[in-house]
Amino acid sequence: MTAKTTIYLDNSATTEIHPKVKDAILPYLEDLYGNPSSLHAKGQEAKKAVKTARKQVANLIDADEDEIIFTGSGTESNNLALKGIASKNKNRKNHIITTKIEHKSILNSARWLEREGFKVTYLDVDENGTVNLEQLKKEIRPETILVSVMFANNEMGTIQPIKEIGELLKDKDIYFHTDAVQAIGKQPIDTKGLNIDLLTLSGHKIHAPKGIGALYIKKGTEIDPLIHGGGQEQDLRSGTENVPGIVGLGKAAEIAKDNLESNIDHLRLLGDKLEKEIFKNIPDLILNGHPDNRIPGNVNISFKYVEGESIMLMLDCEGICVSTGSACTSKSLKPSYVLDAMGKEIVYMHGSIRFSIGTFNTEEEIDTVIQKLPKIIKDLRTLSPLYNEKEFKKK
Ligand SMILES: *Cc1c(COP(=O)(O)O)cnc(C)c1O
Repeated sequence: MTAKTTIYLDNSATTEIHPKVKDAILPYLEDLYGNPSSLHAKGQEAKKAVKTARKQVANLIDADEDEIIFTGSGTESNNLALKGIASKNKNRKNHIITTKIEHKSILNSARWLEREGFKVTYLDVDENGTVNLEQLKKEIRPETILVSVMFANNEMGTIQPIKEIGELLKDKDIYFHTDAVQAIGKQPIDTKGLNIDLLTLSGHKIHAPKGIGALYIKKGTEIDPLIHGGGQEQDLRSGTENVPGIVGLGKAAEIAKDNLESNIDHLRLLGDKLEKEIFKNIPDLILNGHPDNRIPGNVNISFKYVEGESIMLMLDCEGICVSTGSACTSKSLKPSYVLDAMGKEIVYMHGSIRFSIGTFNTEEEIDTVIQKLPKIIKDLRTLSPLYNEKEFKKK
C-alpha cells in the first residue's frame, strides 16, 4: 500500500493498480490457475477468462475480439507492430515513417530495422509537439509500408492528428500504427472511425499490472510474429498466456470505458487548476506541449534557471512524486529528445518537470503541490548562478 502521505503525480510513468482490478486478478493467482490450452475444465475456465478480457479490451477501442493480441508490454506491442509489419512486407517495400518524439520502443525498433536494411523517415514536430501533415504527405513514397505516429506523447501530452493521418492513409497501401499507451482512458478511441490498422496499449498505464500489453491488429492485416512457439494468440505471440495479467488488463479496460467521460473531466479539472496556479505564482516558466490539444492531466513545465532534477528531488522530500525529462535521471546526460525536437531553448530544457495526474488524485493533493512548489523554485533559484546574474542586471 502506498503511504497516505505520498502524492503520486507520475501517472504517465505507471499507475496504482485499481482495487477492482486486483480483486479480479486474485482468483487467477489462487484456484483458477489453469492453462488456457488445456482441454479439461481447469484449462477451460482460464480460457474463458482470457476471452472475456479480450472482449473488454476490444470494447474500449471499438474493435472486434479477434483483433486483440495480448503481449508482454507496450514495448513488445510496439516492437511487434513495426518489426512484424516490416518483416511481412520486406520483399515488396522497404520504407517506414515515424516521428522524432516516439517512445524509445518505437525509435529503437526503427533504428534496428534501419540496420536490417529498411529506410526510416523521422517526422519533425512543431513547437507544440505536433507533427506536420504536409511533411507526412511529402515523405510518402511508393515503397512506404507503414506509418507509426503516437496518439499522445508521454512527456508533454500533445495529441497528434490521428484522424487526419487515418484519412490520408485510408485508400493507400500503407499500414497505420499508433502507440496509444498514453491516450487510453483519457481520450475516446475508435479504431474503426479513425482508420487505424494497429494500435498499442499497455496495462500498467491504466491501473492494471506491469508486464501485460496488447496490440490491436485490424482484421486482414498480415504480420509476422516475433516470438515463435506453441501458436497462442493466433500464432502471433506464442507462450502460455499471462492469465492474471490478461484478466487485469480486461478489467482495467472495462473500468476505463465505463468511466471515460468522468475520468477526462476529473483529470482536466485538476490539471487546469495546477497549471493555472503555477503560472500565477511562479515567474520565468513555459508550458511544454500543446496549449489545449493535450492529454488531460499532463502538465509539463520548464522552470528557467533551475535543474529539473533538483525540483524533482525537493518535491520528493515533500512526498510528491513527479518526473523530469532533463539531465541525470536518464542514463544519458542529454536533455529530453522530445523537448529538443520541439526546438526548446537549452535554458528551458534542463528545468522541465512533468506532473501527470491520475484517476486517484484529489483536488486537495493538487492544492498541496500548488502551495509547496513556489518556495521550492524560489530556494533553488537562490542557489542558481544564472538566476542571480539576471537579478543583478535588473538592479
Ligand atoms: C509506457 C509507454 C510505453 C511502454 O509500455 P510498457 O508496457 O512500459 O513497455 C510505450 N509507449 C508509450 C507512449 C508509453 O508511455
